[in-house]
Amino acid sequence: MSVTLRSQADRPSPEETFSAACGHGRQAAVLAAVESLLGWDERTMMPARAGGYRAEQVAALAALVHRQRTAPEQGERLARLADGPLVRTGPEEVAGTIRLLKRDFDKQARLPPRLVEEMAKTCVEAQQAWAVARAESSWPKLRPWLERIFALKREQAACQLPDRDPYDALMDDYEPGSRWQDVAARFDRLRGQIVTLVQECVGARDRPEDGLLRLNYPIDAQQRFVREVAAGIGFDFDRGRLDTTDHPFCSTAGPDDCRITTRWDERFLPTALFGVLHEAGHGLYEQGLPREWYGLPPGEAASLGIHESQSRLWENMVGRSHAFWQWCFPLAQRAFPEALGGATADALQRALMTVSPSLIRVEADEVTYNLHVMMRFDLERELVHGTLEVADLPAAWNDRFERDFGIRPPNDAEGVMQDIHWSAGLVGYFPTYTLGNMFAAQLMAAAERAIPDLHRQIAAGRCSGLLEWMRDHVHRRGRLLESEALVEEATGEKVSERWLVESLRSRYRPAHGLG
Ligand code: ZN
Repeated sequence: MSVTLRSQADRPSPEETFSAACGHGRQAAVLAAVESLLGWDERTMMPARAGGYRAEQVAALAALVHRQRTAPEQGERLARLADGPLVRTGPEEVAGTIRLLKRDFDKQARLPPRLVEEMAKTCVEAQQAWAVARAESSWPKLRPWLERIFALKREQAACQLPDRDPYDALMDDYEPGSRWQDVAARFDRLRGQIVTLVQECVGARDRPEDGLLRLNYPIDAQQRFVREVAAGIGFDFDRGRLDTTDHPFCSTAGPDDCRITTRWDERFLPTALFGVLHEAGHGLYEQGLPREWYGLPPGEAASLGIHESQSRLWENMVGRSHAFWQWCFPLAQRAFPEALGGATADALQRALMTVSPSLIRVEADEVTYNLHVMMRFDLERELVHGTLEVADLPAAWNDRFERDFGIRPPNDAEGVMQDIHWSAGLVGYFPTYTLGNMFAAQLMAAAERAIPDLHRQIAAGRCSGLLEWMRDHVHRRGRLLESEALVEEATGEKVSERWLVESLRSRYRPAHGLG
């Protein structure tokens, strides 16, 4: 009898096992947050010559994080929990945490450490090669690196989710549960409608022009102005910061520490302003995730597509709207009396609606942007599936670009080599940008239905109604639902590209005098 009692007492209860598994997961998140802070520092503050030792610091932390995330004792805990009662009868957060921690663990543990190291090292070297190759517009210098990376990515796909299509297995890192056939079908329907809208806008007699945005906007005034705007839409500067960088990003270094960044251009107001609206949108999501679950699935973002939906929503659906500029224009006029003294809110808002096909994705307008994304999705999918060889990529890129945009890139630096993603091993990442635009449009339409005076609130400088709706329907749900299920739950509708088409048409046609 005493033997039985002792063995029962020695075996932790499901609740104790769950608590230990969460503690372990939170410990990995502590290390990952330090890693993230080092990354932020590298891109904002670090002296130029500190890069070598920083790489050692980051590699050491990455190894620690990976060891923590694949520790055998955690695997045993999660296996016990996955067979136990909590996953069936526990509260949604508890069951979801077990399911998702187990899924993450299995995916990580199936990757051989050799592959993880080789991938990390190759990507660092490939990014350096990319920078040189792009500067010289020399495709032959990049080609062998992309061949290695796509070979490694195919190997990664086969290891981490062996039952799935290889492209789906890679996309799963960014948009869990997505299937490329579904994405391709949506994108195919979207493409034709966007091409039509672009042609209508470009051919319109009454096209907006953006001269007003290209006057003199002193940087120190911009710095004050964009902070006021970020705070105005709800970014909490007691739990975050705004700093300067070359390639803007948002990163999180703890539950109360969200870092957003931007760059500045004295002669083009949108560079910093829309950079900040975009990154603050990401930041609002991070600041709205359930704090008590920080580092565990209920406290994490659902997917990159959902993350991007929040940044695009504030950048485009809000930031380019009439309502927003009714509130924001007086602030802008005070900040830039010389440039905007004689202008009107309507003139400034209309200047933000220019549509013009161009070579570079990151400089594209809101409408043509999706065409850039969709062609990258098709090309990288063919590379993963082996129906396109890396050697044939530049020709495939140029042909496709000419078909979609009516322009042929004059060189590879402004064509196939413009993005860092593939060199950085980010394959399956591009579609999340357009998925984010689709989710943003569908979420915005639902918020407009739920809050009939939404635009009047924004015009009066009250963005909290929209933010609270996003908090309730998106942010507080963490990662418990996959992206499509989350959008469906939030909006009461199946995910569809039609919301994005309607949103673009209803905003861009009138701005071009097209009724
Ligand atoms: Zn973004």
